[in-house]
This record gives sequence, structure tokens and C-alpha cells, in this order.
Amino acid sequence: MSSVLINGNEIGKVIRNNLQTRIEDLKKQGVVPGLAVVLVGDNAASKTYVTNKQKTCESLGMHSRLLSFTSSLSQEELMTTIHDLNTDESIHGILVQLPLPKHFDESLILSAISPDKDVDGFHPNNVGKMLLGQETFLPCTPFGVMKLLEHSGIEIAGKHAVVVGRSNIVGKPMGQLLLQKDATVTYAHSKTPDLGSITRQADILVVAVGIAKLIQAEHIKDGAIVIDVGMNRDENNKLCGDVDFASVSQKASFITPVPGGVGPMTITMLMENTIQSAENKLRQDK
Ligand code: NAD
Repeated sequence: MSSVLINGNEIGKVIRNNLQTRIEDLKKQGVVPGLAVVLVGDNAASKTYVTNKQKTCESLGMHSRLLSFTSSLSQEELMTTIHDLNTDESIHGILVQLPLPKHFDESLILSAISPDKDVDGFHPNNVGKMLLGQETFLPCTPFGVMKLLEHSGIEIAGKHAVVVGRSNIVGKPMGQLLLQKDATVTYAHSKTPDLGSITRQADILVVAVGIAKLIQAEHIKDGAIVIDVGMNRDENNKLCGDVDFASVSQKASFITPVPGGVGPMTITMLMENTIQSAENKLRQDK
């Protein structure tokens, strides 16, 4: 059996086309949705992510601003930058690219972003709202995975979803969003013994670990839906996921590739959240 490919490039394009209409509507009312991206230090991967986010903003005709600092920036200076962006009328979304250099208190920084502009969905208020099922900015990667499942016509209710990984950015919110759609959710993580015995129970398996090809065909059941969030380099320095695509795609019913699966959706949902923020602001101002 070979699986249906869930194409994040295609689904992302469809969603961005719809966003274009919302951007045009905002522009007619004098608003250009604006995203500020704060980059501290010279992490090469972070630089690439930031450039891609900016490019996508520009391709949609949105306003984007990059604030780039060396790692000598102090916590106070970063706090001041965030406070300035919080009150800047041309900015609707603020994103601080993680990880920050070690001398920053990441949770304090993320809490300083106005919850109204927290388009990454990392502010404790927004995390709480998400947990309660209230309307808020959803973290972009799990939000993107939910869109991939929705656009692929995959029914979630009643399914057993296993999420491997429990980070605040991906794993934890991923399980919550699946739970809200009535999946039975199991989390597995670095301290889970016999990972395969858990992952083989999954109707929907989401893997967000950061270990190249951790999940092999023997770790899944026939016909499972497999979503690979991982972004790693393989032995030939080629981009690959946490799932061994070659073997798992022979057994899964649906699978996301890496690249071209979850990655493009993360950026797309960041655009969606920024547009949502601009629409919220316009409504408040009326
Ligand atoms: P993280 O390092 O914060 O968390 C990794 C998680 O994996 C932890 O919860 C840990 O308990 C678990 N884990 C570690 N070893 C394990 C093992 N042997 N078995 C089971 N679980 C194990 O990472 P993260 O930020 O959640 O990112 C995970 C992966 O997803 C990384 O490869 C990252 O690059 C990728 N990522 C991709 C996107 C995207 O847009 N495609 C977005 C965010 C993260």
C-alpha cells in the first residue's frame, strides 16, 4: 500500500489565496497588516526562517519589518523594543524568533508581547485561552497541522491521536487542538519507554521531536495518518523529517513530506494570525 501525500505547498497556497482577499478588504479600509520580526544573534537557521517569513509577507502585499540585533543586546533593550512595537499602530503582529541567546529570559520576553499582537500564540493569556477553547491566536505549527488534516478531509473525532514531543511550541498545543476536535490523545516524549508500543496505537500520529528518521515503518500501524513536524539534516546533509518517509509511506494512508509538508503551513498560519490581528484592531477602532 502506498499513501496519499499531504501537500503543504499546495494547501498553503490555497489558504494564502483566501488570505489575499482579506488583505485587499483591509487595504480598502486603509489598513496594511504589518508583522514585526525580532531577531537576536546570528543563528543561521533562525536567519533563514526570518527571511522566509518576510518574503511571504511581501508576496502577499503585507508590511513586514525586521529588527535585527547582535547577541550583545540586553534583556532591557529587548523589552524596550517590544514595548515600542506593542504601541506601534502599523504593527499588528510581533514575533520574537526563538531560540534567544542564553542570557535572555525567554518566558519574560514572550509575556511582554501584547496578547493582542502575539501572532505566535505563545503569551500565557493566549495559551490559557487556547486550552479553554476560546478564540485566540493559535500557535502556528499545530494550527497548520490542523489545517492540513482539514483540507485533506480527515475526520478527527473518535480517532486515537498520538503526539510524539511535548514542547510548548509544538507538541503540547498540538495535543490540545486534536482533543478539541474530539480525538483521544496520548502524548509520548523522551521519557516514554517502548515508544513503538504507543505509536502503533495511533490512527493519527504527529511527530515533533527533532531526531532524523526516528519513526520507522515498524512504529506505525497499517493505514495510520502520519504528520511529520521534524526538520533535520540526514547523513547527506539533506533536509529530512522525524519520520523515515521511504518506509513509512508504504504503510501509512496519508503522510506529509519533509520538505513541503508542515513547514509551509507554519508560515501561512503566521500570515493568517497577523491578518486576524489587523481585522480585530479595525473592529475595535470602529
Ligand atoms: P523540542 O526540542 O523543544 O522538543 C522535542 C520533544 O521531543 C521533547 O518534548 C522531547 O520530550 C521529545 N523527545 C526527545 N527525544 C525523544 C525520543 N527519543 N522519543 C520520543 N520523544 C522524544 O523541539 P520542538 O521545538 O518541539 O521541535 C521538534 C521538531 O520540529 C524539530 O525538528 C524542529 O526543527 C521541528 N519544527 C518544525 C516546524 C515546522 O514549521 N516544520 C516548526 C517548529 C519545530
